[in-house]
Order: sequence, then structure tokens, then C-alpha cells
Amino acid sequence: MIFIFSVAALFKKFYCWFRAFYTHFIMNSVSRLFQPCHIVPKDSLFKTSDILSKSVKLMQNVGIISNSSNGMFTFLPLGLKVLAKLCNLVDEEMKVIGGQKILLPSLTPSYLWHKTSRLKIAENGLFSLNDRQGKHYILSPTFEEAITNMVSQVGPLTRYQLPLKLYQISSKWRDELKPRCGLLRSREFIMKDMYAFDVDSETSRLSYQIISNAYENIFKRIGIPYRKFEAENGMMGGSMSHEFHYTSDIGENVIYLCEECNYYTKFICGKNNICFKCKHTLCRQNTVEIAHTFLLGTKYSKPLKADFTDKTNSKKFLEMGCYGIGLTRLIAVAVEILSTNEEIRWPRILTPFDVCILPPKAGSHEDISSRLAYDLYDQLQNLNIDTIMDDRTQMTIGKRFVEARKTGYPVVIIVGKKSLEFKPLIEVHDVYHETSNNIGYESTVQFVKQLIESHKPSLA
Ligand SMILES: [Zn+2]
Repeated sequence: MIFIFSVAALFKKFYCWFRAFYTHFIMNSVSRLFQPCHIVPKDSLFKTSDILSKSVKLMQNVGIISNSSNGMFTFLPLGLKVLAKLCNLVDEEMKVIGGQKILLPSLTPSYLWHKTSRLKIAENGLFSLNDRQGKHYILSPTFEEAITNMVSQVGPLTRYQLPLKLYQISSKWRDELKPRCGLLRSREFIMKDMYAFDVDSETSRLSYQIISNAYENIFKRIGIPYRKFEAENGMMGGSMSHEFHYTSDIGENVIYLCEECNYYTKFICGKNNICFKCKHTLCRQNTVEIAHTFLLGTKYSKPLKADFTDKTNSKKFLEMGCYGIGLTRLIAVAVEILSTNEEIRWPRILTPFDVCILPPKAGSHEDISSRLAYDLYDQLQNLNIDTIMDDRTQMTIGKRFVEARKTGYPVVIIVGKKSLEFKPLIEVHDVYHETSNNIGYESTVQFVKQLIESHKPSLA
């Protein structure tokens, strides 16, 4: 008898060790996650406007990003996971339209910007440096010169290589005089920039249409309503341009919107704020630019001599377009728009994890049900549902639930008191819709799967 007890005790101990090891090193577990919360330092470099920005406050409080210096931020593990999901989404849509991913060096020799006459115009906002031989470089805010020069060096291209659509996702720099609102206007930011090269203006326009549609698909999948405007080309030059905006009070741009028929414009004539379509009054709204597209013509290919050989074997300058999405800015505005004052809400496609599981508190009555939590984790992972286990079982479920909500996990599964019933019940919280259900243990995974499917925005 004693022998059986000792074997059972040994087995239990072994199981506990194994579970601790498994949770700690193999599972996605909160105990192992580097998520330093409430880390606004005493000598914070934040200006008043930064404190007022909900997104930067929340993302710092919850350990998504951390402020490293004025207008510059570190992406912590959860933040980087969100960014990676956004990059994947972009990659998927770019693949559909034949985009090819590259990576250009961050430093661009400034003589290239001199050749396109942009150095003088942009000089004040550029970070620049000299190497030890005195050669001057800029930390690029955009890469038209660098990529056109690269194409020029390998060229002339053949017409069979065209259209050529190259893009990168990388850091860009702007020496902002007044960085504000965290990632919204930072000095280092991550941008996705695409450059298209075509044989003539007609095919260039076609590429413009195709890439713009792909951008709209990205925004539709993110699910936040966006507005598209014809825009000015500004220092980029070229013949056609569009901006994509999100509506948010934090934005610096202003639009006028008709809430009746959804007509909107950037400009109103004189004091006439009447919708010209349905005669209702237009409302003033602030917006944030998240993407910008330009049809460039030969503005860069001419001075940098990027060309191709046409049917008659003569050389012609490439027709270009450039297409940018401010990825880190997009994340900041999305958080700004969707979150409550206390809790982060992510676009559903970008959540750091889809599901967070809370096993019972160690030593509680329901602790014997904790096996159910681990089984649910395995089943969800097998279905490729991105799941994390909050295994800090020294903490109460209530406290862990508050943190899971703040971090913005859309579905929280609690193995609580009802798990002790003859047919165990599991609490499933749909955090974003403020609903909860007690589901039979056997049906939980299927229920969660359907819940997650129902969250996806419709692309209509
Ligand atoms: Zn109207």
C-alpha cells in the first residue's frame, strides 16, 4: 500500500515538474514573456501631447513598446508580434500582385538626392552623417533615389522584366522638430515602400491601379474604415497622388464629412459647409494619413538614368510609381481608434495572441482542473489558433483577467469554479463584445474557433 502511494506521489511530482518545464520553455506563457508593464520612466522624455495620446500611454503601460529617446521607441515582444502580423498581411497582398521584397541599406549617399534636386528641399528634416573619408550620407526617410540608382546600375532592363514591382519593409528616419503621440509622429518609424517600374505612362497607370487596389485590400482586412483622397504630389513630384486616412481626433489633418451620404472632402469653399450631393451639413473631422501613393513619371529615372530597351532596341527612361504605408503609425492610430481608456483593442487580424487561457489559482479547490487548461491549449495550438497561457498561478484569476483584458487578448478562457462540476464547464469571454458563456469542456475548442471566425471583418 505504502509502495503504491509513494509511486503515485512520485508520479504526481514528476507530472508537476514536467508541466512546469513544458509551460515555461515550450508553451507561449505569460510567466516567460518579457512584458514590462507601467514603465514610464521618472525622467520621461514625453511631452504633454504624448501623455494625452491614449495609444502611447496604453502601449507603454501594457509593455507593448518602450520609449528609448525623443521620438524613438523599442518594440517589445508583444509589439513586435503585432508588427510581424501586419508585415505578413502586407506580404500576402504584395505576393498576389507580383511584388518582390528587397532590403536597401538605411544610408543613402546624399549626392543621389542632390542629382534629383531633393537635398535642398528636404535638408532640414533629414538625419545626415559623414563617414571617416568625409563622404556624406543621409538616413533615408524614403528611397526613390536609392532604388532608382540600383535599377540604373543593373540596367538597361529588358521590356520582358517589366512591370517590375519592388518593395521593402524597413526603418525610415525623419528629424521631426516636434515628435508627438508616440508612434504617430516618431523620428524613426517602419514603413512599407513599394516602387513600380513600367515601360510607359499607360502601363504605369495600370500598375498604379493594381497596387492601390492591393492597398485597399490590406485596409479592408484590418477592418478600420479608411478614406481615400486625391492628393498633391508635393516634394515627391509626379502627376497623380492619393492619400489614405483613418479618422481620429488625434490626427493633424482635417476633412469635412457628410454623415448622411458619406461624401467627404478635404476642402470646402468659403463658408459653404453644405454637402453638394445631399445638401446636409458637413462635419469637420480630424484624420491621420496612413498611406500615400504617387505616380512619378520619369522624375527620378531621368536624372539617375534608369532605363530599358524597347521593341526597336532603343533606350527609354522607366516610368515609375511609389507607394508607402506607415506601418508603425497605422498600429498607433488603430490602437487610438479602437481602444478604451484602460484597455487596448487591436484590429482582430493583428492581435498579439487570439486566445489567453487562465488556469486555476495554485492551491485553490479547482486547481485539480488545471489539466483541462493545458489540454485546451494543446487542442487550440493544433488548430493553429494563436494561444498564450497565463501560467502565473500564484496570482488570482481576477487579477490575471484584468491584465489579459488590458493587453487586448480578444478571447479569454477561464478554467474556474464551474470546471469542478460533474460535466465541467469552461468560461469563454468574448472580450471585444463584452459577452461571456459557460461552455461544456468538450465543446469549448469548437466554440472558440467559431468565435474567432466570426470576428473577421467582412471584405465586402
Ligand atoms: Zn451628403
